Amino acid sequence: MDNLFDLKKLVRPNIQKLTPYHSAREDFEEGLLLDANENSLNAPFPEAEGLHRYPAPSQQQLRALIAEWRGVRKENVFVGVGSDEGIDLLFRIFCRPGNDRVITTPPTYGMYKVSANIHDISVDEVLLAEGDFQPRVNAILEAVTSNTKMLFLCSPNNPTGNLLNPDAITQLVEEFPGIVILDEAYIDFSKQKSWSPKVVEYPNLVVLQTMSKSFGLAGIRLGITYASEDIISYMMKVKPPYNINALTSRYAITAFKNMDTIQFKADAIKKERKQLAEKLLELNIVDHVYPSDANFLLAKMKNARDIYEHLVNRNIIVRYRGDEPLCEDCLRITVGTPDENETLISALKDISL
Ligand SMILES: *Cc1c(COP(=O)(O)O)cnc(C)c1O
Repeated sequence: MDNLFDLKKLVRPNIQKLTPYHSAREDFEEGLLLDANENSLNAPFPEAEGLHRYPAPSQQQLRALIAEWRGVRKENVFVGVGSDEGIDLLFRIFCRPGNDRVITTPPTYGMYKVSANIHDISVDEVLLAEGDFQPRVNAILEAVTSNTKMLFLCSPNNPTGNLLNPDAITQLVEEFPGIVILDEAYIDFSKQKSWSPKVVEYPNLVVLQTMSKSFGLAGIRLGITYASEDIISYMMKVKPPYNINALTSRYAITAFKNMDTIQFKADAIKKERKQLAEKLLELNIVDHVYPSDANFLLAKMKNARDIYEHLVNRNIIVRYRGDEPLCEDCLRITVGTPDENETLISALKDISL
């Protein structure tokens, strides 16, 4: 693989030639700083003190903490404004608008297609297998054209909740002739280890994670991309210079001092997921609850659209996924607190009557 893979063949020529913007804060972070036209009289209210400075452009401290946690080097880590920024940058780096193509495996996360559309990139959809929602490896490889640049996989997958079979992932990473993006937004709720350390071994593997789910910090918008040092350097070149703001970075760094709590909460959600699945299955309006390695359940119902409306009328909001391929009559339900789940179950019981 290493010998066959030529990153330069995949990177857009304009990106290869790019001279990135050079920001003042890149060179000096302390001293008598008169280089960036910041406000020398500091911020306007006490809580904001220090925020008159631009944030660190390359986020060395945060990237080092993430790298240590997953057992890679900080040169293998990029931090962005949610996973969405990582996805957007990968399109910018690898896909020529109007020419190139990517492959997705529906039913899956909608952002891959939206981002492709924004960049005028065609999407070839190869459905997951009916029943177990595993990737159909041969069909994916057969869908590859000379302009296919990236493949999106999601494990555990949203909205189906299942982990992808590791052998299928390995075969795709080894045989797909472009970049394989593995979205692990829900990996910390699963029984599998992250693939992030494998980016050192596989030069075409990119792993996405986020602080939005298991870390409980969706509000700060912090997404993580793991990849080879070469891919990460392209991302650093193309990103907006100050993409991660100082508040986000401060909270993300503090999260690493609270890993015990984060782990405890992920475990609690996993336990509650099991309870909720059992209670849903007792209802006569529920046909099937798919096994989940994430913090949500996909449930096949009798008349999901009506049930969805009934729940909305009671101010209980779940996600209707019945329009997705292979998800007919399915609702996606986030695992709530024990109280919230009880409220949901009793509302569903009323509908069952
Ligand atoms: C929630 C989710 C994300 C998170 O996106 P952010 O932009 O980091 O909040 C990424 N991928 C999948 C599959 C998700 O479900």
